[in-house]
Amino acid sequence: MLQATTLYILMIACAAPGGVKVAEKAAPPPDLRKAAGFPARIAPPLTPGSAGRLSLSAEPDELVRVQALGKAKPFRKSGGRVAAGFYLSATLTHHSFATPFFPTNHASTPGNAGARAQTARGGRLIALTFDDGPKPYVLMGTRSGKGVASQSLLALLDQQGVRATFFVMGWRLSKNADEKCRQVDGGVCREAAEEEHRRGHEIENHTYGHGNFRIMVGRYGEAWVLNDIERASTIIQSITGVKPAYLRPPDWTIWPELEKKIEARGYHVMTKSTAVPPALRDVDSEDYFCAGRDLAKCPKPSDYDYVLRSIAQRERQGVEQHLLVFHELPQSVELLSRLIPELKKRGYRFVTLRTYMSLTG
Ligand SMILES: [Zn+2]
Repeated sequence: MLQATTLYILMIACAAPGGVKVAEKAAPPPDLRKAAGFPARIAPPLTPGSAGRLSLSAEPDELVRVQALGKAKPFRKSGGRVAAGFYLSATLTHHSFATPFFPTNHASTPGNAGARAQTARGGRLIALTFDDGPKPYVLMGTRSGKGVASQSLLALLDQQGVRATFFVMGWRLSKNADEKCRQVDGGVCREAAEEEHRRGHEIENHTYGHGNFRIMVGRYGEAWVLNDIERASTIIQSITGVKPAYLRPPDWTIWPELEKKIEARGYHVMTKSTAVPPALRDVDSEDYFCAGRDLAKCPKPSDYDYVLRSIAQRERQGVEQHLLVFHELPQSVELLSRLIPELKKRGYRFVTLRTYMSLTG
C-alpha cells in the first residue's frame, strides 16, 4: 500500500518525433486540481533542451499518468531539444484534466489532442462483462455436472477488488431451472445470481431464452422478442431490485428497427457496430472459441495475447476505455487471473457498466 506522497515528475524533452507517454506512476490525489493548482504548471517552462518539474500530491491506491503528446518525445534522462510544442495531460482515478502546454516560440497544434481529451475524461477504464450465466460452478469455483473444475470467478474478482457486470439468461433464474442448473452447472443458478448481487456486481439483460433475434422474429414475431426481454428484466429485478438498463442481444444480432423499439423500452443496446464510438463498442474476447465452440478459431498464440493486442491497438487510436466481453467459462477465469493484474499495471481501473457509461457517455 502506498503512502500519501508527492510525485515529482521530471520532464526532459528531446527532439525525437512521435513521443507519447511521459510518465506512469501508481498513486494520485484526492483532487489533483486542488493539490497541484491546475492547469498543470511546469516550472521552469520548457524550452529547447530544458527540463520541467511537476509536483502532484498522491493518495494510496490511485493512479496518475502524465503524458506528453505531439511531436516531442519526452522523458529521457539526457537532454535534447524540443522540436515542437507538445500536449500535457494527466489522468487520475476519478478526475481527469488535459491542458495544452506549448513552450514559448514552439507552439503547434497537437495532432491527436481532440481524441486524447475525449478519452481522458474518465481515465483508463475497463468494464468487464460476462455473458450467458449465471453458472454456479464457474462463479463459486466448484465442478460442473460433467465434473469440469473451475477456479471461482467471484473469488478472483473479490481478490482483485473488481466489480463486474453479468449479462445473464433470464431462464436460468427461474425456479424451474434449478434442477437443470444443478445437473449441468453444479448448483442453483438463481442462488449464484444472488451471490453476484450480494458481492456488488451488476446484473443486466441477455434476454430470457437467449434466442437469436433474427430467428426468433422469423419464428414468433417481434412482439415475442420484446416480451422475452421484459421477462428477463422482471426476473432479474426480483433479485437486484433494479430494472436492467442494458441489453446485449444474443450473438450481437440486431438491426436498427428492432434496436429502436428496444431502446424505446428504456434499454441501451450493447453492440459491436462500428457506427458507435469505439469506447462504447463491445470488445469481444472470443473466449468461447477457446472453450471448445470452435477451437480452430481460438486466437493465437493465446487469448491472453489477443485481448492485450486488441487493447493496444485501440490505445494506438487514442482509445483508453474498453468494454470487454467474456463468458462464464473456466478458461476465462484462468485468463482473467493473469489479465486483470496486467491491465492494472498498465493503469486501468475496473468499473461496472453503469459506472463506465456514466464516465464515458
Ligand atoms: Zn450469449
